[in-house]
Amino acid sequence: MVNILLVPNVNAAGRPRADACPGTLQTHTAADGALARVRTPGGALTAARLRVLGAAARELGTDVIELTSRANVQLRGVRDPAGLARRAAAAGLLPSPAHERVRNIAASPLGGRGEHGVLATDGLVTALDEALCADPALAALPGRFLFAFDDGTGDITPVEADVTATPSGLRLAGRDLDLPVPDPVAAMLAAAGAFLGVRGTEWRLAEVPDGPGRVARHLGGTLLETPPAAPRPPRAGVIEQRDGRVALEAVPPLGRMSGAQLEALADVADEVRFTPWRSVVLRDLARDEAGGVAARLAAAGFATEASSPWVGVSACTGSPGCARSRADVQAEARAWVAGLDGPPDVPVHWAGCERRCGTPRGPVVLRTAGTATEERQ
Ligand code: SF4
Repeated sequence: MVNILLVPNVNAAGRPRADACPGTLQTHTAADGALARVRTPGGALTAARLRVLGAAARELGTDVIELTSRANVQLRGVRDPAGLARRAAAAGLLPSPAHERVRNIAASPLGGRGEHGVLATDGLVTALDEALCADPALAALPGRFLFAFDDGTGDITPVEADVTATPSGLRLAGRDLDLPVPDPVAAMLAAAGAFLGVRGTEWRLAEVPDGPGRVARHLGGTLLETPPAAPRPPRAGVIEQRDGRVALEAVPPLGRMSGAQLEALADVADEVRFTPWRSVVLRDLARDEAGGVAARLAAAGFATEASSPWVGVSACTGSPGCARSRADVQAEARAWVAGLDGPPDVPVHWAGCERRCGTPRGPVVLRTAGTATEERQ
């Protein structure tokens, strides 16, 4: 297996020409070793794949699995990247090596099951993923380009993907397109292809001068004035489904899990959905089994109740994983949460430097580890 070393090629805006988003085949060299990111379209992982990644994290890495803001997972400190790639490929997690870093597809975790969910997004995610991998030209998309499906709940729209399909049509970098979209997957692929035609060195559609407008015109439409969508507040606990069953949302503290925690998920669900807000959703539970599932996940270290102090607290990697960090962010954040008796009124994000990686959207209190700094955003 080959690690591709990208040589930064800086443009006038100071931005590297090639994005160096990590993947499973192209890992990133972090201060704590190789960082491998595994794409999980729609945030979906089956129990079998959870077990594969859980064992790999423990046996090949530092037993730390992080959730990303695109609902992907990444393993830290991987000592044997080739071994991880072999295991991931055998588990079907690398359907197209050429496309592995562009399979960034976020989706409403309930997939149309919730109170306001009117679009069944699971099949659309699969169809888009397969079509994406079947198009050699789209392997050239930057690893930061994001597709998304919002089932009508309004939970994914605030993520402001480059191309979002909603029950009412298409959004391009946060603005609605004035066209009916009978085939969302075909329209999203066409939008991605048009982005490749208008981009220079930019990674995201919104960064291209008039990029969303140019892509909209390519699709035969124009963009509407669209108010920004409010981010979904953090939460944990039982969610009602329209079919009488329920889902359970659980929060891994600070978006991190161990291999044993992935295996705990696999013990109670055939499939889970990770979210861009770094939680995990288990769907289609009978109402009377949800309490037992929640208790098992709580015993494994997940927050499963809205009253948990972990709900609404996030943190960047910090040291020892990030050389820029002033402090062990995760340890400092954990010590701070230990002094809480409930979730903070406003989400709190801990970081180890001014970059503030992973800051959630919306109102947030920013705390810098290693200092007494606190500011509101
Ligand atoms: S915010 Fe700073 S310390 Fe934290 S992960 Fe980003 S670069 Fe590293």
